[in-house]
Amino acid sequence: MNQTVRPRIVASACPHDCPSTCALEVEVFDRHTIGRVRGAEDNAYTAGVICAKVARYAERVHHPDRLMQPLRRVGAKGSGQFAPISWDDALDLVAEQFIRAEQAHGSEAVWPYYYAGTMGFVMRDGINRLRHAKKYSGFHSTICVNPAWTGFIAGTGKLAGTDPREMAKSDLVVIWGTNAVNTQVNVMTHATRARKERGAKIVAVDIYMNGTMRQADLPVLIRPGTDGALACAVMHCLFRDGKADWDYLNRYTDAPRELAEHLRTRDPEWASRITGCPTATIEAFARLVGETKRAYFRLGYGFSRSRNGVANMHAASCIAAVTGAWRYEGGGAFHHNDAIFHLDKSLIEGKDAADPSIRMLDQSRIGAILTGDKDALRGGPPVTAMLIQNTNPVAVAPEQDAVKRGFARDDLFVCVHEQFMTDTAQVADVVLPATMFVEHDDIYLAGGSQYLLLGPKLIEPPGECRSNHDVICALARRLGAEHPGFAMTPRQLIDLTLQKSGWGTLAELEANRWIDCQPDFATAHYLDGFAYPDGKFRFKPDWPTVPFGRAHCTVRSAMPSLPDHWEVIEEADSEHPFRLATSPARGFLNSSFTETPTSLAKEGRPEVMIHPDDAAPLAIADGDAVTLGNRRGAVRLHARLFDGVRRGVLIAESLWPNKAYADGRGINTLTGADPIAPFGGAAFHDNKVWLKKQTN
Ligand code: SF4
Repeated sequence: MNQTVRPRIVASACPHDCPSTCALEVEVFDRHTIGRVRGAEDNAYTAGVICAKVARYAERVHHPDRLMQPLRRVGAKGSGQFAPISWDDALDLVAEQFIRAEQAHGSEAVWPYYYAGTMGFVMRDGINRLRHAKKYSGFHSTICVNPAWTGFIAGTGKLAGTDPREMAKSDLVVIWGTNAVNTQVNVMTHATRARKERGAKIVAVDIYMNGTMRQADLPVLIRPGTDGALACAVMHCLFRDGKADWDYLNRYTDAPRELAEHLRTRDPEWASRITGCPTATIEAFARLVGETKRAYFRLGYGFSRSRNGVANMHAASCIAAVTGAWRYEGGGAFHHNDAIFHLDKSLIEGKDAADPSIRMLDQSRIGAILTGDKDALRGGPPVTAMLIQNTNPVAVAPEQDAVKRGFARDDLFVCVHEQFMTDTAQVADVVLPATMFVEHDDIYLAGGSQYLLLGPKLIEPPGECRSNHDVICALARRLGAEHPGFAMTPRQLIDLTLQKSGWGTLAELEANRWIDCQPDFATAHYLDGFAYPDGKFRFKPDWPTVPFGRAHCTVRSAMPSLPDHWEVIEEADSEHPFRLATSPARGFLNSSFTETPTSLAKEGRPEVMIHPDDAAPLAIADGDAVTLGNRRGAVRLHARLFDGVRRGVLIAESLWPNKAYADGRGINTLTGADPIAPFGGAAFHDNKVWLKKQTN
């Protein structure tokens, strides 16, 4: 890279699966080279701050290990033996295998599988156009947002809340179940601004003393899966101490007297027994909430990744309705802003070609699906061909042993379109090299704020890398799939999508870099009523009819009718005395960035944090090799003694590639794929395990 050349600074957007979706400024040296990446100062949410891993993105774009040419497997499945192949031959081979699968078992035998390796709509969701046009099996996207979104929507009726920038105008910011320091640094920007400029207090609720908890004025340390109990006790105190806003409750909520009565027995002593958090801390938290009108509840994803996660999210979201914090600037609750963007993606996704009779397969249950579980296959044919873009299920999906067994099937053909040789690419039959965000055009939504942003193509792709859109269109031609979107460029798709959505044109977005989609104050604070027909916040949601738009399959479970501690988590038992959570590491983002040298150097090696008082009886010392196990399998990693967890809780920050573990079995060997009620999801932080020191 020629650092003496003065770079152009070009606007872009972060493509990664992080709620912030930062507005970026990228140094571009020439048609092939980027330099540093910064946050846009004049974007009111990014405010010039981005995380370190994206600031050094040149490391990723110009990484020597990037896939540069199509590859065909030449050794046994999973052997990692590949040979170069031309693009035409690779695409012909994929099309031939898809046609063969369709002829043998019907179109549902092909399962296009994707996720959020890029959050750009054209490159992420265009795969759905192919699957609709060809009637391939549908993709029920469950692995991330379902529990959190359902829990929040249950109360408000839609997924939107107080402007995230209002955190800076709060007197109390409650950061609940998200380690923002690791996963969305901008939350800290606005929360700490409130502290600096207004003397606001920051409360963090989490399961270990992570970076966010350490920055809080009041860290509330609880056991995994007990957030519902904590929320109930806080609300108990609010009603008990006369801090509930009855005028607000009577006007804006559905069942306040029933809630108050129900909470009489959910006092701090009760919650302390469940959460492990001292009653004095719960009382102090409740006092702060009760005494602060401008209290902002920033509710994260982490605490929803539990079998009772939907109920926990709903319970936490209820607190602001009890105090009436929604009335005030800097008050209320926020999780994600999906509902404000009303983006019409029908052209990108080919929704007009969708056939509702085609089965939807649960993304999180890929292990069961590929190993032939009839229930997971929904009574349909086996999956015998897959195209995988933007995701790495062999590392990130739960029940990893089953996932690996599935991918090892000789009768399964897999094409992986990727940037690096991931765990999933390793087990593919054909590997295609993919572009990165600076090498193609796309648009992005910042669900953690309120911006719609453009990420234009800034440099040429290296080697023979092609974009997801190019691959989808090239396969469509070979497969005889018809849809107008296959004949369009990404820029045409973006322009028409913006126009159909009422957000102007691509030329306007290009000129303005982003669109601030924030609704007015009264709308964002639900001052004209919540998004249910009667305008009332639901303390008592009707779970099966919660208006979550992706409810393709319903888990039949009797969920609590009012906020509560729902006892469906994998509780520790005599065989499995510990509860394990797989929280996100700062240097990685899911399995992305596990290839960049600075992230690897920072994260070191796979470790599990253990309370010293739990380690001592097992003769485990700091740095010892240990094994974690449960009925799903066993994982070997190293112990880190850490007193910032409750006794009996283990934290393994992830997500490392499987090869980083002694025997190639990654942390998701231990996580379960049984769906979270009511609409599916994976309980990544809800695992009972045993722990042993390795003796050899
Ligand atoms: S904080 Fe999130 S959105 Fe911002 S640059 Fe980092 S990964 Fe991207």
